[in-house]
Amino acid sequence: MEIAGSVISLDHYIGGERVSSPSVFQVHSPLKWEEVLAEMSAGDHEISDLAVASASDAFQDWASLGPQERASFLYRLADLIDREVSNIARVECTDMAMRHESLFNRVIPRGARNFRAYADLASAYEGRTWESNGTTNLIQRLPAGPTVVITPWNAPFMLATWKIAPALAAGNTVILKPAEWAPLSSSILADLVDEAGFPPGVFNVVQGIGGEVGSFLTKDPRVRRISFTGSTETARKIGIEAAKNVVPFTAELGGKGALVVLEDADVEQAAATAAGQYDDSGQVCLAATRLIVSDKISEHFLECFHQNVDGHILGDSFDDETTITPLIHPDHLQRVESFIDRALENGDEIIRGGRRLNDQQLFYEPTLVKPASNNSEIVQREVFGPVLTFQTFQDEQEAVKLANSTEYGLSATLFTGSKEKAEIIGSALRAGTVWVNCFLVRDLTAPFGGLGISGLGREGGDYALDFHSDLKTLQIKKADES
Ligand code: NAD
Repeated sequence: MEIAGSVISLDHYIGGERVSSPSVFQVHSPLKWEEVLAEMSAGDHEISDLAVASASDAFQDWASLGPQERASFLYRLADLIDREVSNIARVECTDMAMRHESLFNRVIPRGARNFRAYADLASAYEGRTWESNGTTNLIQRLPAGPTVVITPWNAPFMLATWKIAPALAAGNTVILKPAEWAPLSSSILADLVDEAGFPPGVFNVVQGIGGEVGSFLTKDPRVRRISFTGSTETARKIGIEAAKNVVPFTAELGGKGALVVLEDADVEQAAATAAGQYDDSGQVCLAATRLIVSDKISEHFLECFHQNVDGHILGDSFDDETTITPLIHPDHLQRVESFIDRALENGDEIIRGGRRLNDQQLFYEPTLVKPASNNSEIVQREVFGPVLTFQTFQDEQEAVKLANSTEYGLSATLFTGSKEKAEIIGSALRAGTVWVNCFLVRDLTAPFGGLGISGLGREGGDYALDFHSDLKTLQIKKADES
């Protein structure tokens, strides 16, 4: 079927073949919700079984290739992604309405970078060796087995490649289950894997509803790793299935990032970064959604913040000027609305926004809430929409206490003019990633993940390769010197 100028298969990709299902699920574009964009094959128990069998059959041969040989496939795939950036960005923009400018220039090219980074890392790996107790210890990484990768609907292409690349580089075979709200770019990825010449069964895509086919995949005892990105609620369900089969499981989950602005900060820069949290309607796990500002500068901060938000443009995701895009789905819009309804009932004060825009179907106004207390739901729970909270503090101790006061711990952002405070307060903030005087800067070799209910395990660099491997110690007695 042709979608946004690209021919896209609506079927699963299993064992190097397209496989259809009798039942389908509908995909809509947030840009034109009233139309059905596509009807994709919806997986069931049989499809899950077929995909896991295919990944299991392909595993031994793929695992027995050397890391350099596997890397050559990953490099080829990266080159094909580079060739197709424009098509993938167009399709993904249509499918889930993230800004096209951002998809085309940064998010989709990152997919190619993910494969290159892991091809490099896996090829360069040398197991640690040391001597102790009259023996030589050799640490080896063994491929773990068929791996299920489950992804969410925001930035689905980039997030899928970020998880698939280390799995394939480590010698595992993969079954990808993309989110049912944005599955199209995964189908393009299957075509590119095919064109890159990967052996059949090394990479498979199964489409469908999470609670149905996703759940069958995670229950299958032949699966030896589960790599999940999505909500904490779903992670709890998958974690139970992983535990039953004693399968290692990583979970990259939601966040409620703090943006702390100290008295000595560059207020204009901090306010511009804060206003930027509305980009893509705040549907970003790393978004810094709790603004926590020194009371000495809070007035000036709010002035600059409002000026920046006034400059936002709600509009068509394909328009380069647009900063705020529609929300992904009417159910999600309803969810965002219900948070604000409950905030009002709770006595929280809406400083700006707080309404959906009826004339433009899935848009919600950029919203700022002053909570009645730090215990307000709007402070404590992830909204995943264009909603920020505003709180002030008197001293740095209070700032850290507020910043660390939710169950989440994915990321935090700090603005300060002091090098000393950058380290001291930055270290005190409880989050998997803390940015100081910058935001969303990423080094792919650094560990990435959340504390608390924001996640389990780490992605990035060698940390992901370790997760996708069974680490083994080979201990050999040293020959007598005499
Ligand atoms: P979700 O948990 O609803 O769905 C994620 C995936 O899980 C989908 O593919 C879905 O089909 C599947 N799924 C649902 N139920 C399942 C089940 N019982 N068994 C197996 N699979 C199942 O999340 P979402 O709404 O798609 O994504 C938004 C969430 O993802 C937010 O909380 C956001 O913060 C988080 N997120 C985190 C990161 C990160 O890196 N930490 C990145 C992006 C998004």
